[in-house]
Amino acid sequence: MKMPVYILSIVLFLLSYLLPFTMSAQTKDASNPLLQKWSAPYEIPPFEKIKPEHYVPAYQYAMAEHNKEIKAIIENKKPATFENTIVAYDNSGKLLSKISAVFGSASGIASNPQIIAIAKELSPLTSKHFNDISLNETLFKRVKQVYDNRNNLKLNPAQMRLLTETYKRFERNGANLPNDKKEEIKKINSRIAELQLAFGQNLLAETADYTLLLSKDETAGLDQNLLAAAAARAKKIGKEGYAFGLDNPSIMPFLENSENRKYREEILNAYLNRCNRNNDKDNKSVIKELIELRLKKAQIMGFDNFAQYQLQDKMAKTPEAVYELLDQIWKPALKAAKKEAADMEEIIKDNNIPVTLEAYDWRYFFEKSRKKNFDLSEAQLRPYFKLENVREGIFYVCNQLYGITFTQLNNVPLPNPEATAWLCKDVDGKDLGVLFMDMFARPGEKRGGAWCGGFRSQAYENGKKVIPLVTIVGNFTRGIGNEPALLSSDETRTYFHEFGHALANLFKDVPYDGLSGFPRDFVELPSQIMEHWAFAPEVLKIYAKHYKTGEIIPKDLIDKLDKAGKYGQGFVTTEYLAASYLDMDYHTLKSIPSNFSVLIFEDNTLTDRGLIRQIPPRYRSAYFQHTFTGGYTAGYYSYIWAGVLDCDAFQAFVEKGNIFDKVTATKFRKEILEKANMEDAMDLYIKFRGKKPGIEALLKNRGLN
Ligand SMILES: [Zn+2]
Repeated sequence: MKMPVYILSIVLFLLSYLLPFTMSAQTKDASNPLLQKWSAPYEIPPFEKIKPEHYVPAYQYAMAEHNKEIKAIIENKKPATFENTIVAYDNSGKLLSKISAVFGSASGIASNPQIIAIAKELSPLTSKHFNDISLNETLFKRVKQVYDNRNNLKLNPAQMRLLTETYKRFERNGANLPNDKKEEIKKINSRIAELQLAFGQNLLAETADYTLLLSKDETAGLDQNLLAAAAARAKKIGKEGYAFGLDNPSIMPFLENSENRKYREEILNAYLNRCNRNNDKDNKSVIKELIELRLKKAQIMGFDNFAQYQLQDKMAKTPEAVYELLDQIWKPALKAAKKEAADMEEIIKDNNIPVTLEAYDWRYFFEKSRKKNFDLSEAQLRPYFKLENVREGIFYVCNQLYGITFTQLNNVPLPNPEATAWLCKDVDGKDLGVLFMDMFARPGEKRGGAWCGGFRSQAYENGKKVIPLVTIVGNFTRGIGNEPALLSSDETRTYFHEFGHALANLFKDVPYDGLSGFPRDFVELPSQIMEHWAFAPEVLKIYAKHYKTGEIIPKDLIDKLDKAGKYGQGFVTTEYLAASYLDMDYHTLKSIPSNFSVLIFEDNTLTDRGLIRQIPPRYRSAYFQHTFTGGYTAGYYSYIWAGVLDCDAFQAFVEKGNIFDKVTATKFRKEILEKANMEDAMDLYIKFRGKKPGIEALLKNRGLN
């Protein structure tokens, strides 16, 4: 569970479902690199040739091509068959997917006013395009003909799954609705897309808008690395001194270390009030309109609330199942968080510090408490987590488990000059895919958090496997001057996490595009299970080497890390669950009063459940991207849902007495990673584990039992 994460299938899914009919016939501009055959190795997109002005015409051309493909399906004089309708539909829109994947990447890692303006221009076009297809009556009629006749078609299980999933997707998009309702859904969808986009863009602007500029004597507590980064940041904006911003790599270490309480308060308040300042970037009215429209859509579709609609095709299936899980963990988490607060209050008392613990003190005194209880600080750990060493550690784990290898590719186009490219080979020497990594923060240009995306999903073309192009993106702290980048333990864990998503995309082996997306509450299993290897002693002794001396991380530090790892889980779990409740509560509303207030609703949701004022939710509403930009709407719970799965799944290795047990790893690869949406998620899990997951391993893992 962590930062915003958007994985390939979700990105492609969103793009494909947010995306339209263009009116006029489009001609192909042969000089547009997006429309040329990509001749680089592995057909990597020609990133360096693509200019912002290429996107809109390429989209228009690709949408027109897509429409032609759909038209061919509809106008086929022969009766609808699995091949001429379902497979033809599955194969349609490939060019558009290719182009939107490149644009999606640019929006995430190289955003600028021009890209933002293009995204705004494309949003209604693409939304209309996909609406028109998913609500096309003649197309749906043919899909339904095949579906209604499904039991006579002698389909294999994958074909049957594709047919059922395709039919259900049309149904979920409103294809069975009467015409007037369809028109209403179209309008709602396109407005939702606009609002979601505005939400994200407001947040990007507000996050970049704030700077805390300090002089040397105001920086007590901050170490040399932090100061050097802050000095470089100040210089970049033409100022003297030390600058701190609201992106996580800047604000979080500041809150942990700065002795200046006044500035901790100031920067945290700025962070907590992003898009809540009653200016033109305020998201409160965006939220209100969004939840109204989502509720309206759900009601048209025949549901009581939007969460029901969202969850129907997820592993959880119902809001009740989600609340049941959240409620089981909430009490032990809050109890542990209060214990952590008590530990900090003791430190405050012992040192005669005349303060009451507040939210802006939490991270600062928590570091002190962790140091006192475990004698461990991030500063002790970072030297052992040089980025390149962590990467080697990840490669080692992948090799031990699955026998795969990674070799750096030089002289291939890169999505950003800072990115690196790697060829992943399977145990039998066959190419599995290409992986790009773009790991450093670029404030104002790169979206916050870490995620896994891609430029091409694994596919079969004429029976031949096409390898995927996968990318992982981070916002890690840079090395200062000639020093290498030394990761925090959280960044190290994030690296393993995103790599887990990458593995799922590299291993995926599905015959049809329509079966390539993991359900959202299943998709974090492959990523979160990787975190279990990050700090295992067997793995640390391979990669955690001091960046200067090469000395392996000492055993007593490993022991401390193990013990200290659970400490703080009260806070982390509580702030996460608080945000999950917010996400669910907004989307289980059955009506929204005209005087609905986001701030009052948020406050009620949290205080009614007993959240203490020192712990803000991990995301407050006005900057809760997961839920209000659409990727994790009524879905933020997915991280802990998958947390139950990953802890339980890792137990399968532990029970074998070998965290590299190859038989278990092969089973995990074959039953989960390769399968994606080939079968029901719970069925796949049971095939891997032999039984349904239980929450005991998660509670134990977090020290909440
Ligand atoms: Zn993830």
